Amino acid sequence: MKKSKNAKRIIYLTTAALMAALTAVATSFIKFNTGINEGYLHFGDAMIYLSAAILPPPFAFVSSAIGGALADIIAGAPVWAPATAIIKGLNTLPISLLFYFSKKKKNRIITPLTCLMSVASGFITVFGYLLAEGLMYSFPSAWTSVPFSIIQATGSTVVFILLGLGLDALKFKKRFFSFDIPKPDSDILYIFEDTPYLNITNKCPCACTFCIRQNGKSLGSAENLWLKKDPDFSQIKETLDAFDFTDVKEIVFCGYGEPTCAYDNLIKACKYIKKKHKGVKIRINTNGLSDLINKKPTAKAICENADIISVSLNAPDAQTYNSLCNPKFGDESFDAVINFIKDCKKYCDDVRVSAVNVLNDEEINKCKKLADELGVKLRIREKV
Ligand code: SF4
Repeated sequence: MKKSKNAKRIIYLTTAALMAALTAVATSFIKFNTGINEGYLHFGDAMIYLSAAILPPPFAFVSSAIGGALADIIAGAPVWAPATAIIKGLNTLPISLLFYFSKKKKNRIITPLTCLMSVASGFITVFGYLLAEGLMYSFPSAWTSVPFSIIQATGSTVVFILLGLGLDALKFKKRFFSFDIPKPDSDILYIFEDTPYLNITNKCPCACTFCIRQNGKSLGSAENLWLKKDPDFSQIKETLDAFDFTDVKEIVFCGYGEPTCAYDNLIKACKYIKKKHKGVKIRINTNGLSDLINKKPTAKAICENADIISVSLNAPDAQTYNSLCNPKFGDESFDAVINFIKDCKKYCDDVRVSAVNVLNDEEINKCKKLADELGVKLRIREKV
């Protein structure tokens, strides 16, 4: 979602005003008097933590300061308003700075770290009001308010987590504030036909006549699949961490290159996905030349870390294959593809092959026969 600077500013200002109002309402009207020094318990801090998780730091700071001070005025305790404005502004800092400096999981409001930071914010409430009350009244009486401040901070954290989880379930941040997340120059992860795809390399030993790379740099949600440099594993991991896997059933390794050309990163990324997202199936779309590319048998390790292997068979024989795919390994390539399919069959229950509809009917029938002999399903793909 691209937005102009002005449009972003208007969205932030509107949200900040709304959050200030919600903070004032949640503080003024959902409250319990403590009976001590005109103080009361409230859960308005939950709105402050929410502002910090959604808005850039200056907007969250000002919105929370105004909302908190307004609540004191509405409650007939304006004497507290200046101290509250400072404390409520400071309350935003732990979560605000976490989102500002972190590159991970910006689409989610609730993460283990935001929960931790809301606790840190609670300490600001406790010590902020202890200091303010001590200076305004007396420290012995201020200490008697500390237990109520602790209850208030704890209650606000619980309400914040519940609210945040609800908004995360609705993908609130992703839907309305994802323009805030900087987009990289090229795409490692993109969405194509509702499925996430990983583009981990642009290397490939073939030059297929029908290759989609000839069509341009964008595909699906990707703006640019041409990588300046193949990503290292930490960049792939960071990309996976930033992606919201809610409702994802399958992820596919397939981009502007042959994924087994980045063999080590491919295996590491598969292991990482398996560890972090247990129900998500991994499909690897490959040209089947991995053994030649990596100069070793690779089918076993690939199959052990993926669920579905889809091999581009592309032709019924070596001659047709060479003329369509122009593999740099020459005549041994087609046999290598067939052997790779046979090896994958030993280690994986779901091995598929594909060919593109640039073949004539006779060639497609021969491919079907070959696929039957290999015991795999053939899919004829439309040339894109
Ligand atoms: S193997 Fe795939 S990426 Fe490589 S040239 Fe052929 S179609 Fe393109």
